[in-house]
Amino acid sequence: MPKNRIDFEKKLLRKMVAMYCKKKHGNPLCPDCRRLLDYASQRLDACIFGNDKTFCSKCTVHCYKPAMRDSIKKVMRYSGPRLLYCDPLAALRHIFNK
Ligand SMILES: [Zn+2]
Repeated sequence: MPKNRIDFEKKLLRKMVAMYCKKKHGNPLCPDCRRLLDYASQRLDACIFGNDKTFCSKCTVHCYKPAMRDSIKKVMRYSGPRLLYCDPLAALRHIFNK
């Protein structure tokens, strides 16, 4: 398990949100998506599992607000499979960490 688990997941998250926003909003990171990213980063910082955490999609503690949860789900659904083409290494680690 990487020591910088939280940092790694934040980077992945940033990539996914940026990818989603570029396609859906024609923006590298619009204010709404930035808010979502900030929120998700805060949740990661506040995660009770710290570096032992699993990916949020697998987490048993649903710490996201419902609206944010819906938004991040959309991002994951869009960017998850596409990340595989752009960043195979990160995507592979994601899969093996599940
Ligand atoms: Zn956006």
